[in-house]
Amino acid sequence: MASVLVVEDDQFVRSALIRQLTEASYTVRSVGTALEALREVAQIGFDVVILDLGLPDLDGAEALKMLRGITDVPVIVATARDDEAEIVRLLNDGADDYLVKPFSVAHLSARMTAVLRRARGGGAGEPGGAAALPTVLRVGGLAVDPLRRQAQLDGVTLDLTRREFDLLAYLAGRPGVVVPRRELLAEVWRQAYGDDQTIDVHLSWLRRKLGETAARPRYLHTLRGVGVKLEPPAEHT
Ligand code: CA
Repeated sequence: MASVLVVEDDQFVRSALIRQLTEASYTVRSVGTALEALREVAQIGFDVVILDLGLPDLDGAEALKMLRGITDVPVIVATARDDEAEIVRLLNDGADDYLVKPFSVAHLSARMTAVLRRARGGGAGEPGGAAALPTVLRVGGLAVDPLRRQAQLDGVTLDLTRREFDLLAYLAGRPGVVVPRRELLAEVWRQAYGDDQTIDVHLSWLRRKLGETAARPRYLHTLRGVGVKLEPPAEHT
């Protein structure tokens, strides 16, 4: 079963979460500060982290950035403030999902299941995901391994950021299909709305790593105002 790190300083909330998540057959560890959380994730591979944003030692956004500096583990942030701008910022900073307090364990559990499913299908090869091993996705000379989070082009490993990998893996799972921008925002960025620039910037970085340009595309094709398509270049078809 999936292992969870609960980062929560409120003793009452913490013990309730531990009890209920354990009953829901998750393996749970918990800490009360951001620094302890960083130490834990550095030592133990978790399937998901639930991060309270109001911790005594570090600001929540700061804690999230530091976590992201050392791990790709899915992070669900728990915030007391239903502040849209703040939530968008956290999602941009690498949170996979969020919950506004107070939330029920049923709600949390549903979010965790979704995050874990995404992590397994679209990327993060965390331990515990063995049940649904995705195979290596091949598009022309591209090979994308979602479980190991590795991508190769013509046998050469690509050095991709987390987001670039997620984007490539998502598109590689749908070769030849025009994926609408809205879908990319929802599935790769986990945002219901957003700035087209975000996608464009990541696409241009990814393009550069694939050794192509927008003017002379090989794998990545942008259909202005519509979406993006990944397909093998002519020499592979
Ligand atoms: Ca707190």
